[in-house]
Amino acid sequence: MNILRPFSKPFLSSVGGLALYCVTALLLGFSASASAHQECAAPGCAASEPYHGMPAIAAIGARTGKYMEIPEAAKGPSIDPAKGYRIQELGRGLYMVTDNVYQAMFVVHEKGVVLADAPPPLAGFIAKAIREVTGKPITHIIYSHAHVDHIGAAGQLLATLPRRPVIIAHEETQTILARARDPKRPLPGVTFRDKYTLKVGGQRLDLSYHGNGHEPGNIFILAPEQRTLMVVDVIFPGWMPWRRLALAQDIPGYFKQVEKIKSMDFDWLVSGHVARAGTKTDVAMQHEFLQDLKEAAGKALQNTALGEGMDARDQSNPWAVFDNYIDRVAAQCVNALTPKWASRLAAFDVYIWDQCFTMEQSLRLD
Ligand SMILES: [Zn+2]
Repeated sequence: MNILRPFSKPFLSSVGGLALYCVTALLLGFSASASAHQECAAPGCAASEPYHGMPAIAAIGARTGKYMEIPEAAKGPSIDPAKGYRIQELGRGLYMVTDNVYQAMFVVHEKGVVLADAPPPLAGFIAKAIREVTGKPITHIIYSHAHVDHIGAAGQLLATLPRRPVIIAHEETQTILARARDPKRPLPGVTFRDKYTLKVGGQRLDLSYHGNGHEPGNIFILAPEQRTLMVVDVIFPGWMPWRRLALAQDIPGYFKQVEKIKSMDFDWLVSGHVARAGTKTDVAMQHEFLQDLKEAAGKALQNTALGEGMDARDQSNPWAVFDNYIDRVAAQCVNALTPKWASRLAAFDVYIWDQCFTMEQSLRLD
């Protein structure tokens, strides 16, 4: 493989020269890693000159020295380190439990508790959080979707309960879980396709499905009286979405789902992640960011020529031609979004390259 060439004989024989170069570079104020990088001229290595107009934000795979500061608006209420979690009442008998990274929700009714999601990082906290407000047992568990990071503590929780609760999920979630055969995620006993209303002990939750906005089977859980909506892995209050638009499997479907959430009437959003509950303002902000992302990636696709600045010998390698093209499209996209969004969304720098790559790909292919 060409990539191994730096370790071939001519390279080793030049180690002495490299050492001298490094000392000189250090004296000149360059880092040793930068000098090593510049020494690699073998095919497959990073070019000594970056793309024209390369963003300062480290590209995927490059080490970041210090990430950008988290804006105050993205931070949540502090957590008692002795407890490791906090609960927040969002309406009558409805609580969010969170470690300020993951979120689950529970609703207390006359005879018990309905729990929505059981993320493994909250495994040790959910039962304690419920006991803070009631001694009643868990009667129902709702799965927001099949991903193990949101429901993977369900099996462990079930093993501690005297009576098995009713597990409710979308039918696509059941299909995914049946294939996974994962004891951490027991199969649901009740499934639905479009809508399901859970009325229990004076509380009501409206479950509905709006297509593949994250993965198939990811549902909306609305508590109408408490004006609280739970939708997981779609909106990230105050934060950049997780990488690649939170791994959405269908990007147009994801955009449609954000529109749907924006059109709904609620006060609180339990989004499954980040440090605080969301509001309609957070939804509007993410919607605006997504529109800007789409526009920036679209313009970059239009303004970028194939093959520009490449080694002529690579022009017969279509994969290389597209790698070079897509890199330059993403760089333009990152540059276009940075001035407006870098200080507004937490972790903008962490995932902006991912979002630009995802968006340009969707615009070219979907
Ligand atoms: Zn997920």
